[in-house]
Amino acid sequence: MTPNIPGRLEKLRGKLAETELDGIIISQPENRYYLSNFLGTAGYLLITRSEAVLATDFRYTEQANEQATAYRVVQIVGSAFDWFLQLIGELRINRLGFEAGHVTFSFHRRLSEAVSIAQSPLQLLPTDGLVESIRAVKEPEEIELIAKAAQIADSAMDYVRGIIRAGMTEKGVAWAIEKFMREQGSQSLPFEAIVASGPNAALPHHRPTERSFGQGEPVVIDIGAKVGGYCSDLTRTLRVGAPVHGDDLFNRVYDTVIRAQQAAAGMIFEGMSGGEADGLARRVIDDAGYSHAFGHSLGHGVGLAEHEQPRLGPNSSDALVSNMVFTVEPGIYLPGWGGVRIEDLVVMENGRVRTLSKTEK
Ligand code: ZN
Ligand code: ZN
Repeated sequence: MTPNIPGRLEKLRGKLAETELDGIIISQPENRYYLSNFLGTAGYLLITRSEAVLATDFRYTEQANEQATAYRVVQIVGSAFDWFLQLIGELRINRLGFEAGHVTFSFHRRLSEAVSIAQSPLQLLPTDGLVESIRAVKEPEEIELIAKAAQIADSAMDYVRGIIRAGMTEKGVAWAIEKFMREQGSQSLPFEAIVASGPNAALPHHRPTERSFGQGEPVVIDIGAKVGGYCSDLTRTLRVGAPVHGDDLFNRVYDTVIRAQQAAAGMIFEGMSGGEADGLARRVIDDAGYSHAFGHSLGHGVGLAEHEQPRLGPNSSDALVSNMVFTVEPGIYLPGWGGVRIEDLVVMENGRVRTLSKTEK
């Protein structure tokens, strides 16, 4: 897929006009790729109302010329910011945005030094989430790639459901998942698989250990695949073998999380805020007496990054609009016992969400 770079640049220029910027310098890796189609891992974009320049070093200039066809490619020599100094004079811009949430102190200092050497009136102005807000609304081709990545995660979950047994270790299962997804066509995984068994399942971001599964224990499995640069994100909580006699806690907790998940997925509508969406699931969990046990947000956007806009959490004012892709992932975590999380990937379409994750719950 060749992305529609002119269309994306046009959207960005609309945002520049709204925020009264003459240009922006892009250094965040996913934003750089999104706006240029350049897959190299080093370089900066300088985009003004009428120009698009990509600065990269000699390792990438040829690749940049091939991939970033909408850009004029300039070569960075050594560690100097001469390229920037030169562009300041040439582009005649006054208000230049930079990505405040991403740039380092040293990068900002080098930009400032170049401005002062050039004795330019240029002002460097912080921006926040400008490109991210454009990325949050997906194009049809992007949704297709995410759906493919979701399908690989689904197959991996089906596979694990078939092999999981008492005595297996968290690390062993995490490796089996990783191998399976790579063989199914996933690029390197967007995040390390979470396999959290027994009491470890009470830790939402547990990293796999040598711990082996006991009979009847919950195992939280949170995995993602990547296709064409786009991620998926999926969680299921499996029980190892038959339930241990007299343990109905698992069923009670599981049933509550399922109801919370279905309430949110069923009732989220277009235009709702991320905070309101979060409330739909949180209410179910609160009513069941587990308000203390759902300590994270309901969900997050997924795309080139595994966590991106929009945010679905108690205080999020992000509006959920058409063609956004995000997760719905309530959980209940009980220290000492374990936890249950169920996460589906959904896309906002025709006013409601469509679930991309297909594996059973
Ligand atoms: Zn996840
Ligand atoms: Zn997630």
